Amino acid sequence: MQRFALYLGLAIALAGCVPMAAPPVASAPRLGPEQALENFREVIARVEPVAEQLCREQTPDQRCDFAIYVDRAPRSGVNAFHTIDDAGRPAIIFTVALIAVAANVDELAYVMGHEAGHHIGRHLPQARASAHLGAEVFAQIARAGGVSERAVGEAAQIGAVVAARQFTRQAELEADAIGTIIALRAGYDPLRGAAFFERLPDPARSFLATHPPNALRMETVRRTLAEARRPGP
Ligand SMILES: [Zn+2]
Repeated sequence: MQRFALYLGLAIALAGCVPMAAPPVASAPRLGPEQALENFREVIARVEPVAEQLCREQTPDQRCDFAIYVDRAPRSGVNAFHTIDDAGRPAIIFTVALIAVAANVDELAYVMGHEAGHHIGRHLPQARASAHLGAEVFAQIARAGGVSERAVGEAAQIGAVVAARQFTRQAELEADAIGTIIALRAGYDPLRGAAFFERLPDPARSFLATHPPNALRMETVRRTLAEARRPGP
């Protein structure tokens, strides 16, 4: 069990919400730093209560008091993450580069809704379980082949990464759907917000993609919006 901890750590590290190979978003319109900060403050104040309420509605057994953090290290690039902080609160982390390149409040609101969606979708514990299962299965296959313990360890590592990658693609789409609802309820335009991902390189072009293709993400946003706007029975 213990032995897999390192491999699982590697697999979970793949779970950042922006494709890892993303260079700075060159085509993004640049707001001044003061405007970017003001947008960020506005979005936190309006989106957090909505995300918290949806979290309490859908997963009342979880903590829903989101903590928002900013990663100020320039080398962290353009990214956002969901994690659980030291106090056990669900946390949403924005890198300073993401705040700087977001073109408008809709993009920030969408990203925040998407990260909250990972928590509401229980993706962290599921990713861990998925990586662990992948490691176990690949290790068993390797063992059946009568290889060395070292080779078994390597197989477990590959299994964890493969399983986590498969899980990540599916989890990203679910977070997109939940993020669409949160942004909409908070009064933002999810389609305009999700355009943020369209300005990034399309993961569909990468063989080792951990994220779904941009077109599939936009389709998820459009479908979720259509369902949300359909009059009830
Ligand atoms: Zn994500």
